Amino acid sequence: MTAYDDLAARIGEYHDLLCALNTLKWDMRTMMPARGAASRGRQLATLTKLAKSTFVSEKTARLLDATETEIAGEDADSYRVRAVRQVRDAYDIHRRIPSELVARMAALGAQSEAAWAEAKDADDFASFKPWLKRMLGLNIELAEAIGYSDHPFDALVQQFEPGMTSARLGRIFAELKAGILPLLERIASVDAPLPLNLWDAEYDLAAQKGICLELTALIGFDYTRGRLDSAPHPFEISFTRDDVRITTRYDANYLPMSLFAALHEAGHGLYEQNIAPELTRTALTADFIGQYAVGGASFGAHEFSSRLWENQIGRSRDFWRLHFSRLQEAFPAQLAAADAELFYRAVNRVRPSLIRVEADEVTYNLHIMLRAEIEMALLEGAIAVDDLPEIWNAKMEEYLGLTPPDDRRGVLQDVHWSFGGFGNFPCYTIGNIMAAQALAAARAQMPDLAGELAAGDYQPLLNWLSDKIYRHGRAYSTDELLTRVSGEGLNTAPLLDYLENKYSDLYGLN
Ligand code: ZN
Repeated sequence: MTAYDDLAARIGEYHDLLCALNTLKWDMRTMMPARGAASRGRQLATLTKLAKSTFVSEKTARLLDATETEIAGEDADSYRVRAVRQVRDAYDIHRRIPSELVARMAALGAQSEAAWAEAKDADDFASFKPWLKRMLGLNIELAEAIGYSDHPFDALVQQFEPGMTSARLGRIFAELKAGILPLLERIASVDAPLPLNLWDAEYDLAAQKGICLELTALIGFDYTRGRLDSAPHPFEISFTRDDVRITTRYDANYLPMSLFAALHEAGHGLYEQNIAPELTRTALTADFIGQYAVGGASFGAHEFSSRLWENQIGRSRDFWRLHFSRLQEAFPAQLAAADAELFYRAVNRVRPSLIRVEADEVTYNLHIMLRAEIEMALLEGAIAVDDLPEIWNAKMEEYLGLTPPDDRRGVLQDVHWSFGGFGNFPCYTIGNIMAAQALAAARAQMPDLAGELAAGDYQPLLNWLSDKIYRHGRAYSTDELLTRVSGEGLNTAPLLDYLENKYSDLYGLN
């Protein structure tokens, strides 16, 4: 056995533990009765500790040193070398974070999340303030432990999007605002209600599930290696490429809820199902920092796939021109007076809203920028937790022209800060940018793609994405993947072009 083989065997075991953790988490969020929570929490804690001690140990350190010596001089671009580098980077970060800090964050996080849920219900920001102050303090400690040269946010965002910085995000946000805010104004000046409200009717939940299964299979989600279930907060999770679980959420009155959540999560699932089989149980299908079995290059790169299938494909005119008749068959009374074009318009209506998760494609990134900008300012001490509701509302007014009537629909709406997830929000915007860039590259390289999509043949696009991006797992960063397909790293121009073209057409702006 070589040192590399020994290290690979150890990583394989670690990977098995992470997949077992994923199984428990999937069950917790889909099937588990409420009273199972306390014992499930203990099981997760025990298994997490076991996984961490398998990874961060003297044995791993020795094997890592020996492997690095052994593979010195090998092709720097090979999966072997890249896998070892992932282990090294993650190992160094883990070594820098004191385990007592991790324990304090986990303990406080659980209480703080409960306090947030109560505060949100009661619309009482004051009761959540002390928790948020302590959570912010721990995140500052975490940033100091991980280390950064410019801004504490840079340390935290590494956990989700390696290589991203606050300075670069500042430039990205400025470019997006310069394109999106004027577009939004033009849309608002002509927006009018549609001739028919499709969401007054009731849509049978079993029939909704049938359509969700059909559409996700149509774009290529393989149900011999996956399942669709329901969950209050839809998610995707995998236990290797051969068992990928997706979920959706049903609302009897609002059909788009289940359809687009299913397409979104299937987009995540397509990434996992199409990772090269030889990467299973390796460092290239595990997020060592988050201790999570996941194959995509980063959180942002994972959102690229979900957003691409949900929005660029699933909310396209071609898609509904082809598949609306199936919806009408399933819901003949509810959709009797509608047609494909009306449905397309109804699921793409742009309306500034208070709530991020209900936002359309044009306004969504503004919700993200607001949150990331507030996180950065909090971390650098430029603003105080006490002033958050005011600052939140002022930014909502500036970006979306709306003032939240209460904190429940304002600063208290998202769970992320309560458990300490600072640095995570920008990944959604990175995913949107990458989706537009990748699809633009695919269109340039595949002369028949437009015709194939118009005919409902999604396999050629899926093959291209698999070959260029999915199959590599975590071997390349977001920028490296994009450079390989488009010749440049993250660039906001294709997203702005896409939004401008789609919504100019939809709203007759030119
Ligand atoms: Zn997602």
